[in-house]
Amino acid sequence: MNKEKVKRILDAFDDMYPDAQCELVHHNELELLIAVMLSAQTTDASVNKLTQSLFQKYRCVEDYANAPLSQLEADLRTIGLYRNKAKNVKAMAQKLIDDFDGQVPCDHDALQTLPGVGRKTANVVISEGFKVPAIAVDTHVERISKRLGFAFKKDSVLTVETKLQKAIPKERWIKTHHQMIFFGRYHCKAMNPDCGHCPLIDICKEPKRKKYLNLTE
Ligand code: SF4
Repeated sequence: MNKEKVKRILDAFDDMYPDAQCELVHHNELELLIAVMLSAQTTDASVNKLTQSLFQKYRCVEDYANAPLSQLEADLRTIGLYRNKAKNVKAMAQKLIDDFDGQVPCDHDALQTLPGVGRKTANVVISEGFKVPAIAVDTHVERISKRLGFAFKKDSVLTVETKLQKAIPKERWIKTHHQMIFFGRYHCKAMNPDCGHCPLIDICKEPKRKKYLNLTE
């Protein structure tokens, strides 16, 4: 994608979402890591509702590691996939204690050795928790990247990440990541994108935009 187009997109994001930020409530890196782990296939609002009491009850990494699995499951039961998430959170906490002195590491590869932590989660923790530039490609970022032409439809998540990193100035990675999530969550939704009010409709590659442009291509 040429620089002019990238600038158009980033300017539009700045106009629409100047204050875009992580919507998962957290007060430290451990809470962030747990919130991101809990957010898989679950809305941020549901996670925040749960963590409001969870973070009061579980104060440190040992609290998660030492909790009986059945108790942790009960405490997470309001969100989807809670059994699996409880298992991963407990195992993740134990590994933090065993291998990282109980601290969340600021290292991409180290983070991915933790149970339940994949590339996307590691990128969120690194960028949001430690403010180290990274672009986490979740379902919104992947969809927006493909619709706006940063990547091709067939591209893997990893390829999308690499293409975004090449196209977007590094100092904007963290901000743009949040703006793409907001754009995908509130405007360019998967099923009903608001093409009629989209400032990027002339750039977009999504077929659904055509009815607003009267195109026959
Ligand atoms: Fe999304 Fe529609 Fe805008 Fe394309 S034109 S980016 S599909 S809202």
